Amino acid sequence: MLERPEERINAITAELSECPVAQEFFERVKEGLLARDENPYTHFCVYFAAYDPDSKQVFIGHHKKSGLWLFNGGHIDKAETPDESLEREIGEEWGVEVDLQSIGEPKLLTVTPINNPAKQKCTKHFDIWYFVPVSKAGFAPDNEKLGTEFYTTGWKDIEEARGLITDSNTLKAMSEFEKLFIKS
Ligand SMILES: [Zn+2]
Repeated sequence: MLERPEERINAITAELSECPVAQEFFERVKEGLLARDENPYTHFCVYFAAYDPDSKQVFIGHHKKSGLWLFNGGHIDKAETPDESLEREIGEEWGVEVDLQSIGEPKLLTVTPINNPAKQKCTKHFDIWYFVPVSKAGFAPDNEKLGTEFYTTGWKDIEEARGLITDSNTLKAMSEFEKLFIKS
């Protein structure tokens, strides 16, 4: 049975209720029209941030549209659950198949204000963050696909990545990696 996107996002938000933006997520879900096709200004997105637990490095890129150093991510499409968006976006951006079981549940929620009218109508993104463990040696994303969104991508250790990242939500993701690396 298909899970409605609203129900799945509410369930994820309930699990991550310690995130400061959880209430904002619940309120936005109540408004409906969650996808960019339905509301071009505020909508939901997924991030899928790859990391290698052995080398304790993260896979990050210099994003063309925003000019920022960001992890991979994309908009949720109409009627998609975040998990379905994750699977589709991984195919579109990396061109690889990833075992979704190994990714597990999202671990972070952020709200990103956007002011980039020349390039996008989006004004606010509700971001659901998945962290994707991969082996650096075995991870072979399609560089042509990556090149459509990023000037460059690569593996960075925590300090190097922190030196490139300027937006606060991506820095929050770095704190999540630090927790994951302590566990691994
Ligand atoms: Zn958007």
